[in-house]
Amino acid sequence: TEETLVLVKPDGVARGLTGAILARIEAKGYSLVDLRLVEPDRDTLEQHYAEHEGKPFYEPLLEFMMSGPSVAIRLAGNRVIEGFRSLAGTTDPTTAAPGTIRGDFGRDWGLKVQQNLVHGSDSPESAARELAIWFD
Ligand code: ATP
Repeated sequence: TEETLVLVKPDGVARGLTGAILARIEAKGYSLVDLRLVEPDRDTLEQHYAEHEGKPFYEPLLEFMMSGPSVAIRLAGNRVIEGFRSLAGTTDPTTAAPGTIRGDFGRDWGLKVQQNLVHGSDSPESAARELAIWFD
């Protein structure tokens, strides 16, 4: 079995969608190994988003991620990394497929950063790195 880091980002928590998102994750058969409400500091977010440093959306992304609490989830299951990203849908909520979390609930706010409700690790290496940042 495999593990991934899922975040319900501040827009998801603020809009009261944590339960709806968790329901989809659980219905798919994945297991909640650990779950906590987090208010990450800048240092944590710089580590998490290191690959995006210097991009135009980097500063707005960090500001957004510090705008309110997120829910961090250690999620386990067979092929859960790929599977959760499939549940989440593509980055841009406007074009994410209906049936996905971002496609069904995501709104295009016309902001500098995509407020797209969730994050999921994109590879086993990312998952190990990100789980260490958020849970250790
Ligand atoms: P995905 O890979 O499916 O986009 P992700 O959350 O891992 O999911 P990243 O490419 O790692 O996406 O980008 C991190 C976050 O930064 C995105 O989820 C989104 O909130 C924001 N973001 C990424 N690209 C853009 C962009 N071009 N414009 C605005 N915001 C962006």
